[in-house]
Amino acid sequence: MIDQLHHTEQADRYSRQERYAPLGREGQAKLSDSKVLIIGAGALGTGIAETLVRSGVGQITIVDRDYVEWSNLQRQQLYVEQDAIERIPKAMAAAKRLSAINSTVQIEAKVMDVRVDELEELIGNTDLIMDATDNFDTRLLINDMAQKHQIPWIYGGCVGSYGITYTFLPGDTPCLNCLLGEVPLGGDTCDTSGIIPQAVQMVTANQTAEAMKLLSGNSAALRRKLLSFDVWRNEYISINVDGAKKQDCASCSPVATYPFLSSSNLEKTDVLCGRDTVQIRPARRQQLDLQLTAERLQRLEEGKVEINPFLVSFTTGDHRLVIFQDGRVLVHGTNDTAEARSLVHRYFG
Ligand SMILES: [Zn+2]
Repeated sequence: MIDQLHHTEQADRYSRQERYAPLGREGQAKLSDSKVLIIGAGALGTGIAETLVRSGVGQITIVDRDYVEWSNLQRQQLYVEQDAIERIPKAMAAAKRLSAINSTVQIEAKVMDVRVDELEELIGNTDLIMDATDNFDTRLLINDMAQKHQIPWIYGGCVGSYGITYTFLPGDTPCLNCLLGEVPLGGDTCDTSGIIPQAVQMVTANQTAEAMKLLSGNSAALRRKLLSFDVWRNEYISINVDGAKKQDCASCSPVATYPFLSSSNLEKTDVLCGRDTVQIRPARRQQLDLQLTAERLQRLEEGKVEINPFLVSFTTGDHRLVIFQDGRVLVHGTNDTAEARSLVHRYFG
């Protein structure tokens, strides 16, 4: 009896959306049949994921290279204090919360740095890519991949009280490469400039509204303009960028060469903006035995070793090194790539 009651109530889950005429039952059915790839599980990624999961998209893949820290809790809406205490990778913490919100959505979490090979693997039969990254390196990679596979993607960026978003439709709108240098894009989230959550929420509200239009078969309702705003200064601007489409664009024209997909297999070093942190990514992805790694570091007796199922943290002197299963290391306490590299080679070979 109780089960039956629950079942009837659950059938009501999307009733308010289905009553919204432009969506209706038909639109809802299309939503539940769609697959979305979310790149990044920071402020934008958690906001996007929560809205899409609540609204009943069929499948979500969420990917992120980092773990939860206390400074994230102010705006990254899926995380709780325990995630920061345990340094749970964002993708895993997000997936756990998302499954609790809506168990009918198929949710896949990936702890990885998204470069060419990873993106090619992840893209599968994705209907839409949501940009929740904080850097143009990754966005240009997403842009080329989206053009190559003809998959729409929705750009989002924010910093301070400022936000920006645009919906890229391959074969229709200009691409990100077309817009570079033509339109002020900005929107890189550098922690040093600070950020207020409302700027994030405005961006994700616009990104997910566009996503719902696209996935429910309401493409005619898409905004088609680049939107930027400042919620503190009360400025809202939308710009028609159709004229920026380049006939000979290397990413979206008939002669496209997808320049941002040419991968190099070298060890890669990134300074993480405003974080006093360097990421070192090995030439090849690995499958590390974290337990063995922790034991080896323990034996050195040169610092404090902590482990959870996803990473090992090693604090030595003024530095903290965090190594993930895929062999990536985050070196906290420096912006100097040479120093970071020498620490990594010293402790991890
Ligand atoms: Zn282009």
